Amino acid sequence: MVCLKKPSSNHSNASLLFLFSYSFILFCNFAPRFVKKVSNRLKPYHLGFKGLSLGHHHFDFDIGSDFFECFEETEIHVGQVKVDLDLEKQEKMLVLSFDIHGEVEVVCDRCAYEYMQPISGKEVVFIKFGSEYLEEDDDVLILPQGSHEVDVSSMLYDFIHLLVPYHRLHLPDEQGNLGCNKQNLEILEELSPKETPVDPRWDVLNQLKID
Ligand SMILES: [Zn+2]
Repeated sequence: MVCLKKPSSNHSNASLLFLFSYSFILFCNFAPRFVKKVSNRLKPYHLGFKGLSLGHHHFDFDIGSDFFECFEETEIHVGQVKVDLDLEKQEKMLVLSFDIHGEVEVVCDRCAYEYMQPISGKEVVFIKFGSEYLEEDDDVLILPQGSHEVDVSSMLYDFIHLLVPYHRLHLPDEQGNLGCNKQNLEILEELSPKETPVDPRWDVLNQLKID
């Protein structure tokens, strides 16, 4: 930890310089460690393909909270997702076939309580080679000629988020009962605005306006 003595002068330029220096030292102390930790966590998702023979190659991933924490904007923080990836190396192209299944924690739209949402899906991405990096289509990625690895972490991040249904609702329990958190439902019911009966005199006034 670096300790700095605050300058005795009240001059504003000196204070600004002090703040700048202090922030810079803090940044130098903490930022590289943070970035390194995150980039190390995602390293297994960088697949080197240069040394692979033509044909199919298999990769397994177990995705958990550590993975989601690497993405600042993530909606998902808890989950267990298994990914089977088949990488087919062809003469001029790679074909990545993902088989994704597991569960992630989301908030129920009905009772506002977290639950584990099962997800499952298959995705295919075609990787071609060109002059520069380009996401040509949802399922076509162009890598610069001479690339020797492909980073699948952001693909997996997108696929998992897209597999979560738009409407998030607790699944029914084994007896077919509503799986929602009953305590939360009662609180939400109490907080919801109650319908007040409409004064019949308003009907008469509204009718006059229309006439
Ligand atoms: Zn619910």
